[in-house]
Amino acid sequence: MKLGKLLTKRSLLVVSLLLGLMAHSTAAEDKSYKTDAVELLRELVSYRTAKGHGQVPVMAKLLEQKFINAGFPESDVHLIPKEPDLASLIVRYKGDGTGGRPILLMAHMDVVDALPSDWEDDPFTMIEKEGRFYGRGVSDNKAGIATLTNTFIRLKKEGFVPTRDLVIVFSGDEETDMTTIQQMTTEYIHLTDAEFALNADAGGGALDENDKPVSFNFQAAEKSYMTFEFTARNPGGHSSAPRKDNAIYDLMAALENLENHRFPVKSTEITRNYFRDVANSRTGKVAQAMKRFSENPNDVEAADILSEHPHLVGMVRTTCIATMLKAGHAENALPQTATATVNCRVFPGVSVEQMHAKLSDVVGNNAIEIKVLGNPKASPDSPVLPAVYETIKSAIHSYYPGIPVVGSMAAYATDGIHTRVAGIPTYGVSGVFYDIGGGFEHGLNERIRKDSYLIFQDYWYEVLNRFAGK
Ligand SMILES: [Zn+2]
Repeated sequence: MKLGKLLTKRSLLVVSLLLGLMAHSTAAEDKSYKTDAVELLRELVSYRTAKGHGQVPVMAKLLEQKFINAGFPESDVHLIPKEPDLASLIVRYKGDGTGGRPILLMAHMDVVDALPSDWEDDPFTMIEKEGRFYGRGVSDNKAGIATLTNTFIRLKKEGFVPTRDLVIVFSGDEETDMTTIQQMTTEYIHLTDAEFALNADAGGGALDENDKPVSFNFQAAEKSYMTFEFTARNPGGHSSAPRKDNAIYDLMAALENLENHRFPVKSTEITRNYFRDVANSRTGKVAQAMKRFSENPNDVEAADILSEHPHLVGMVRTTCIATMLKAGHAENALPQTATATVNCRVFPGVSVEQMHAKLSDVVGNNAIEIKVLGNPKASPDSPVLPAVYETIKSAIHSYYPGIPVVGSMAAYATDGIHTRVAGIPTYGVSGVFYDIGGGFEHGLNERIRKDSYLIFQDYWYEVLNRFAGK
C-alpha cells in the first residue's frame, strides 16, 4: 500500500526504520481500534451536549471512566465540574521525561444544538450512509474527542510510554462562551502548562471534486472573536407627534457607517505564506490576486479582489458585521431604544480596547453607546515552530503523500485563542479531510467521511509516536 510508495523514495536508513515499524505493526495486527473508534463516535453523538441540555458532565463522566478502565491512574484523570451544567476533562499520559515538556492535545465535547425536526434523520443517532457518518458533532468535534480518547487507550494497551507527558484537554463550551478552556488554562494551569498544543478542532485537509487530496491546513493563528452592542436611546413619545431625533434612525445611521467602513488591509507572515502556497496549486483571477498579495501586501487591487470573496475577506482584513437587531416597544410609540449586535473577527494583535475605540470612530456619534459583550480575548498568533510543522507534515504525508501542508490563519475562533493567550503556541492539525461539500459543521446533516475518519485514527497514533515515541 502506501508504504511501498514511500520505500522507493526514502534513504536506506529510513527504509530500515520503516521495516522495523512494519514488523512491529504486523506482530500486533489488531485492527479493533478502528471498530472501537466508530463505536465510540456513535456513543458520543448520542449525547446532546449542546448548551442548556446538561449533557456535557454526563459525557465527561463516561469518558473519565473509559480512561480509568484503560489503566490511566485516577490521579491523572481530572474531571472538573463547572456551574451550572458544564465540565471539562484533563487526562495526563505520563511520560518518562526524556523528551521535554508536555504537549497539550485539544478537542471540545460540546456541540451546536440541532433540532431533530429540521434534520433528515435524528441528529443524535449516528448513521452511516454512502461512505459517510451523519450526526451532530460527527465532525465538530466529537471526531476529535473520540480519536484522541481512542488513541490514548490504544497506546496504553500497547504499553507505550511517551518520552514526555501528553495531556488531553477536553473543554465543555467551545461553541458558546469558552469558559471551560479559560478555567483549564488559568485556575488549572498547573495541569495544562505545555510546550505547545495540538488542536484536533482546527486545521485539516481538503479533497477536490474527484476526492483527490489537494492540501492540508496547519492552523497557526485565529482571528479573535469580539461582539459589541450598539444602542441608541431616545425619550420617545407618541407616534402621532414625531420628534426630529429617533432611536431607530440614529442606530441605522450608525450601522450604515459601519457597513461603509472597510477595515485596513492586514497581513502576517502566516497569511502571506498561505496565499503564496495556495496560489501555487490553482489558476485563475483569484489565484493571481493571492500570488500578488503574497508578494506585495500593499497591492490594493489584489486585496480588493480577495475581499470580494466571503471566505477570503477574513484573511485580508478585520471584519465587523451586524448580526441582530432589536428596537421599539409598541407600534404606536416612538422608539426609546434601538440595539444592534455587531460581531467582529479581528486580526491577531489588535486588543479589545483598540477595537472598541475604532468602532466609536467609525460610528461617529457619541450618543450611540457601544458596549463589549461577554469577555472576549484578543489572540496572538503562534510562531510556526519548524520542528512541529515538519513533524505534522511528515505524518500527513504518510497518508496523503506529497500534498502541500500550508500554514494558515482561521477566520473563525476556537479554544486555541485561550491557549495562545496562556502563552502556549497552538496548532490546529486535525487530520480530517473534507470533500467539496464540506462537513456542514453547525449546519444541517453534519457529516464526516468514513475513510477519512479511519485514517484520522492512524494519523493521530503516528503524530503522538513521532512527537513522544522513542
Ligand atoms: Zn469545533
